[in-house]
Amino acid sequence: MRIGLGFDIHRLVPGRPLFLGGLQLDWPRGLLGHSDGDCLLHALVDALLGAAGLGDIGDFFPDTEERWRGARSALFVEAALAKLRERGLRPQQVDATVFAEEPRLGPRKQLLARNLAGMLGLSADAVVVKAKTMEGLGAIGAGAAIAAQVLVLLEEAPAGASSQQPAAGPR
Ligand code: MG
Repeated sequence: MRIGLGFDIHRLVPGRPLFLGGLQLDWPRGLLGHSDGDCLLHALVDALLGAAGLGDIGDFFPDTEERWRGARSALFVEAALAKLRERGLRPQQVDATVFAEEPRLGPRKQLLARNLAGMLGLSADAVVVKAKTMEGLGAIGAGAAIAAQVLVLLEEAPAGASSQQPAAGPR
């Protein structure tokens, strides 16, 4: 088993669409970022890469590169999964928490979890998204940012699976 932990935070600002967990949510403000600012997917990518011993999202998709400007973060998840497959690994379970004062994510957490499960090829009961407020405290509590924390468990992909490539040696 391999375990990875990811965290990310982005400012919540007017004039941007809100992308979270790969979904566009109907909200008058969105997450500021070089890409779409999807802090939940960025934390997920960091957790996937960390669990695989591959580094972090900035190593592969630096925000200094023009080609990632405005990129949908689902691309980063797909690329991270491809890197895992090269090493004979795949996600087995995801436990995520989103910290947001607004919008209130309680009614949307199941939707977010189902979308993550779909992206990762996992069953619905293998992905949980929890929604927390900060009780009005700090930048998140003031509605100025949204943060996410993601824990991922990887397993070895079965040998001979059609989409698998031979596992690479240690980096
Ligand atoms: Mg980020």
